[in-house]
Amino acid sequence: MSTDSPKTCEALLKDAASRIQSESARLDAELLLSHVSGLSRTSFRAWPEREIDAGQVEAFEKLVSRRVEGQPVAYLLGHQEFWSLPLNVSSATLIPRPDTECLVETAVDLPLPADARVLDLGTGTGAIALALASEHPQWAVSACDCVDEAVELARENALALGLTVSVVKSSWFSGLKPVRFDLIVSNPPYIASGDHHLSEGDVRFEPASALVSGTDGLDDIRLIIEQAPDWLNEGGWLLIEHGFEQAASVRSLMTARGFEAVESRRDYGNCDRMTLGCWRSAS
Ligand code: GLN
Repeated sequence: MSTDSPKTCEALLKDAASRIQSESARLDAELLLSHVSGLSRTSFRAWPEREIDAGQVEAFEKLVSRRVEGQPVAYLLGHQEFWSLPLNVSSATLIPRPDTECLVETAVDLPLPADARVLDLGTGTGAIALALASEHPQWAVSACDCVDEAVELARENALALGLTVSVVKSSWFSGLKPVRFDLIVSNPPYIASGDHHLSEGDVRFEPASALVSGTDGLDDIRLIIEQAPDWLNEGGWLLIEHGFEQAASVRSLMTARGFEAVESRRDYGNCDRMTLGCWRSAS
């Protein structure tokens, strides 16, 4: 956009939305303009002719160019809402997905002790652990991640939200103190290494360590299911998010390992997106 172009909000938004290749181009543009101007999205509708200053136009155009290149909006804004919690995000972690809220819904409804000990494996931003801590403040929630920046980010998010989650650096269970949990949740990497989705959309900019797990996408899930019984109390639950075509495999893995009451649940898009099972050592 040349310097003498109009700088009304509507002109800026229209121009940006026409260049952004996304189903949500207009929304993306509004979020970016709101971010640089401090104006609300509703104000763009109420006062489309409002002009913003040149510095803000420049900042907006920089963000729009990065969005046109495909950078996810959440990374450009530096935050993403999950379970109504504003979370800081960075390119070191996966951006929390709305579908993962279905995993939180399932977890909060499980028959667990009032003071349940809970672990979120591979927490990233801390999204799942923080959502659980916000719903059940009396639960003792721990979280781990193998990436230093993720551990820092999850701790920062907990602090900013005033929620108590103990975040430690650990690759799955390997670095944890030997305690047993009533619930272990995880949204691990589960995409197969050659999957074409990896070269499309936002995932191109997300860390492979949070997305990819071997040739069938199940390497990390296999490890978690194999080791989880050593970390679960009697009657404790394991709840894992997985790909929409992996439910049958994950159910077989859990059943073969001796989990009971194994079942899969759907996400907002009606895809089988998570599987859970209960651990009883005597069975
Ligand atoms: N659900 C994400 C996607 O398909 C992947 C998340 C993950 O690997 N844990 O984009």
